[in-house]
Amino acid sequence: MEFEPKWIAWETTRRCNLSCVHCRSSSELEIQGHPDFTLDQAKTIIDDIASYASPVLVLSGGEPLLRPDIFDIARYGTDQGLRMCLATNGTLVTEEICHQIKEAQIKMVSLSLDGANAATHDNFRNQPGAFAGTMRAIELFNRHQIPFLVNSSFTVRNKDEIPQIFQLVKELGAVAWYMFMIVPTGRGEDVVDELIPESLYNEILEWHYRVEKEETKILMRPTCAPHYYRIVRQKAKEDGERFTRRNLNFSTGGSKGCLAGQLICLIDVDGEVLPCSYFPKSAGNINQVPFKKIWEESELFLQLRDFSSYKDNCGRCEYVNVCGGCRARAYAMTGDYLAQEPFCSYQPATRRHLSQTSQHS
Ligand code: SF4
Ligand code: SF4
Repeated sequence: MEFEPKWIAWETTRRCNLSCVHCRSSSELEIQGHPDFTLDQAKTIIDDIASYASPVLVLSGGEPLLRPDIFDIARYGTDQGLRMCLATNGTLVTEEICHQIKEAQIKMVSLSLDGANAATHDNFRNQPGAFAGTMRAIELFNRHQIPFLVNSSFTVRNKDEIPQIFQLVKELGAVAWYMFMIVPTGRGEDVVDELIPESLYNEILEWHYRVEKEETKILMRPTCAPHYYRIVRQKAKEDGERFTRRNLNFSTGGSKGCLAGQLICLIDVDGEVLPCSYFPKSAGNINQVPFKKIWEESELFLQLRDFSSYKDNCGRCEYVNVCGGCRARAYAMTGDYLAQEPFCSYQPATRRHLSQTSQHS
C-alpha cells in the first residue's frame, strides 16, 4: 500500500449553527480559544499541501458557510490544482451560495441526513427545522446541477430508519450515500450508551452488503466501519461471486477499511494534523512543520501504517491489510489506538486454530 495523502478534511471553522448530538468537534456558534484562521493563513496551508501532493481537500467545520471568505479559500485551492469539496449541514444554502459553489469549481458537496423525516433528523441535530433546511439545500443543488453526496450517522436512536433514509437519499438524486457508524469522540462521547451494539452492527453491515451488491444507481459505502471490508470478502466468497466496488473518481478509492493517517487526515482549525476526523491526537502542527514532514515522518502516522504493531485480534487477523479496525474507536474506548477494534466480533483464523488445538490437546 502506498501511503500518500489522497483526501484531507479541513476544519475551516469550529463555529456551527447547529449542535448535533454526535459532533466530533463539539461545535457551537461561539467557540472560545479556537478562532478561525485568516484567509492569508489558509493560502499558506494550501500552498504547503499543493507543493507536496494533490489530494481532495474538503472544506469542513463546524459549518464552513459561516466563514464569509470560504469561497475565496475554495477558489484559491482550485487555482492551485486541488480538488475542492465542501461539507455543510445545508441549512445556510441559498441561490447565491450555489452560484459561489459553481464559481469556485467545488467538485462535490456533502450533506448530512440522519433521519427519514423531520422528527428524527431534527432530534439528532438538536435543531427544529434542520431537516427542512437540508431538503431545501438539496432542491437548490439539483436546480443548479451541483453534485452532492449524503452522509448519515447512526446510533440505536435512528437505526430503524436506515433503509428508509437510503431510499430517500436515492430519490433525492445524491451521487453517493455513506452510512456512518458513530465514533464516540467530541460530543459523540455523550452518546456512548446509544452506540449500535456489536451484534446489531454486523447485521447492519450485512444488510449493506446485500443492498450494495444489487445497487446500480447510487454509490454507497459504510464509512468508518472497517470490518465491512472483511464481511464483503467473506460474503462474496460464500456467494461464490466477485464483488466489484464502484468508487467516486475523486475519493480515496476505498482500498481499505480504515485509512486514518494512511490515505486521509484532518487538519483542525488550530492547524493540528490528526489521522482522521474522529481521532483526537495530533501528528504535528501545519503552522509550524511542513505538511510533507508531518505526513512522512510523524511517529503517530508511521505507527498507524505499521499493521504489525496492532494488538490482540487485529494484530493477528488475516484481514488486517484490508480492514485494520477503527483506530479512533479503539483509542476512544480503550485509550490505546493500536488495540483491537472494540466493535468487531471476528475471531481471526490463527486464534481459532489455537483454541481448537488447545481443545484437542
Ligand atoms: S480511525 Fe479509521 S475507521 Fe475510525 S473513524 Fe478514523 S478513518 Fe474511520
Ligand atoms: S479483528 Fe480487526 S482487522 Fe480483523 S476484521 Fe476485526 S477489526 Fe478488522
